Amino acid sequence: MKQRYYFDHNATTPVRPEVIEAMMPYLTHKFGNASSAHSYGREAHLAMERSRETVAGLIGAEPDEIVFTGCGTESDNIALLGYMQSAPEGRNGLITSKVEHSAIMKASARLERDGFQVTWLDVDGSCRVRLDMLKEAVSSSTALVSIMHANNETGVLQNIEEAALIAHEAGALFHTDAVQSTGKIHIDVKKMGIDMLSLSGHKLNAPKGVGALYIRKGITVTPVTYGGQHEYGIRPGTENIPWIVALARAVELAWESMDEKADILSKLRDRLERGIERDIPDVIINGKEAPRLPGTTNISFPGVDGEALLFSIDTEGVAVSTGSACTTGEVQPSHVLIAMGREPKVAQGSLRFSMGWGTSAEGVEHILRVLPPIVERLRNIAGGI
Ligand code: PLP
Repeated sequence: MKQRYYFDHNATTPVRPEVIEAMMPYLTHKFGNASSAHSYGREAHLAMERSRETVAGLIGAEPDEIVFTGCGTESDNIALLGYMQSAPEGRNGLITSKVEHSAIMKASARLERDGFQVTWLDVDGSCRVRLDMLKEAVSSSTALVSIMHANNETGVLQNIEEAALIAHEAGALFHTDAVQSTGKIHIDVKKMGIDMLSLSGHKLNAPKGVGALYIRKGITVTPVTYGGQHEYGIRPGTENIPWIVALARAVELAWESMDEKADILSKLRDRLERGIERDIPDVIINGKEAPRLPGTTNISFPGVDGEALLFSIDTEGVAVSTGSACTTGEVQPSHVLIAMGREPKVAQGSLRFSMGWGTSAEGVEHILRVLPPIVERLRNIAGGI
């Protein structure tokens, strides 16, 4: 079979063998329900509580501040819909940004339809949220500010310590969607002033279908689904022990090699960017001036259609993504790149390369070999830029 190179770790990641090994007993003989009083139940409960400690440790939280969920999307929805319903009297304002993941964008839009006051902050040309706008927008009626930590399309990191400070000065809480940053860079919720944080297992080498929401002690969040007392009643439903154990093992592995991996991925990313800039004329590296995640780069190739580029490079064995979304049969340019001020046509000719566990220098060299002729051919077909 032809060699394939996976450069789409921000979409999802491969599950590490150590993670599969850790979860396996809970899929087989340790199958108990964590709520049962007998030894099977106690075994499952113990595994869950140990996992909670591990996940809490990754972000500097206390174990009882972690609620296990089914994914990052669910964590985001519980944080926004759940907190806005229990916010203090007179505070019905939510402030978020125009570059959030659709989980936050759509939950916020839903709140707007329900009569909450939602403010959408702009970003500058390098994808950084305009904190001057946040300062203007916060008031005594703001309940919550939600700004993502790392952008999934550009990898750009937001100044969330500063954003949290601004929120707190107005008496509001601060939530961050850290789905793309947890396990990749250091996070300390206490030092950074984060009141709620969303994370997702499948972005850090655990399987799809598990996430967590950190909720600082003392914060009341109304459940968005109803059932038993699992997860403090905030996320009812029998806990998914194998996946929770998998998340914890993935967190341990991420923690062990975080700095080393960040260093390797930054170098690979820089090598890729330098090679592309050298061999392909007129490219734009989106968010290059801003602090970014180690292994993510988003590059516009003006004069080329991103979908055509994605399929052409896929036939060369390279998996990447475009930020474009397909709505009602038409390809829409990425809302993130548009918010950064890119022309729709340029935004549509952009690719995201995202690296992680298993990414090799050989993959980067392969891209640098195959991409320049593809871009040249597609630009010629399109009649040049
Ligand atoms: N938030 C961000 C920033 C993401 O990148 C994603 C997934 O791409 C999500 C939320 C949703 O996470 P999940 O796929 O676990 O629902």
